[in-house]
Amino acid sequence: MRIDLHTHSAASDGTLSPAALVRAAAGSGLDVVALTDHDTTAGWSEAVAVLPAGLTLVRGAELSCVWWPARDQPPISLHLLAYLFDPDEPRLKAERDRVRHGRIGRARRMVELMVADGYPVSWDDVVAEANGAPIGRPHVARALIKAGIVSTMDEAFTPAFIGTGGRYRVAKPDTDVFDGIALVRAAGGVPVFAHPMAAKRGRVVPDTAYAELADAGLGGIEADHADHEPQTRQKIRAIAAELGLFVTGSSDFHGANKQVAIGAETTDPEAYERLVAQASGVAPVRG
Ligand code: AMP
Ligand code: ZN
Ligand code: FE
Ligand code: FE
Repeated sequence: MRIDLHTHSAASDGTLSPAALVRAAAGSGLDVVALTDHDTTAGWSEAVAVLPAGLTLVRGAELSCVWWPARDQPPISLHLLAYLFDPDEPRLKAERDRVRHGRIGRARRMVELMVADGYPVSWDDVVAEANGAPIGRPHVARALIKAGIVSTMDEAFTPAFIGTGGRYRVAKPDTDVFDGIALVRAAGGVPVFAHPMAAKRGRVVPDTAYAELADAGLGGIEADHADHEPQTRQKIRAIAAELGLFVTGSSDFHGANKQVAIGAETTDPEAYERLVAQASGVAPVRG
């Protein structure tokens, strides 16, 4: 069984349509793939409609959250994967809507700051890149490439532009992670901490936070991810074992927006079974 529990389609900031993504998943020999677009379930129906025979789809999303070290210190960003939740549950739905809306104002502000410094990028370029999806920094980055301001995605994600601590990076109004965990559980879903120790993305939560997150209802932690070194993966496994959490592995595939191939990292079937056993929102769909 080959199981990849974290991918993005063009319904958020990946480059493959949901239909092309499930075809790519089947083509790369996966048995199970999760579609986890940022803050949206908009790609689910298309993926279900064309699901290749033999492939199982886990419907999910990746929610943008924050963890507060203390109220007088700046929050730390983190991503919460949410699996098999009821997409119509009103409170989680309202929170996804709020965060997506916040993404618009924040991306507009990033463009304004770059325009004020004389860069030839426009809001319309960014909107065209997003094509209706929740607007993320990868859409801004692609607009910067098309305008000839940078030559690669990686260059856009440096401190000179919109990377971690970047001159033109503006924060989003993300969900408090404890609220996020509670909302996902209340919608019958299973919350998993995505790439928790991906230090190149910015500050990460301290080791002491994991017990609090587990107490709040976290189900699992993503260990095998391209942004984690082998030692980091071992450390995450140890934390998960101590707290009774399952461990996942996944590609975090974004199509041509990133280098990682679909299925590049996978989850043990036993961990997948634990995830499914905890879910009561929607079921995996078998193609
Ligand atoms: P946002 O959610 O709008 O803050 O954008 C974050 C997204 O940018 C995440 O999905 C990352 O995977 C993506 N990202 C971060 N660094 C890079 C990079 N160097 N190249 C491409 N995408 C990146
Ligand atoms: Zn992304
Ligand atoms: Fe993420
Ligand atoms: Fe992701």
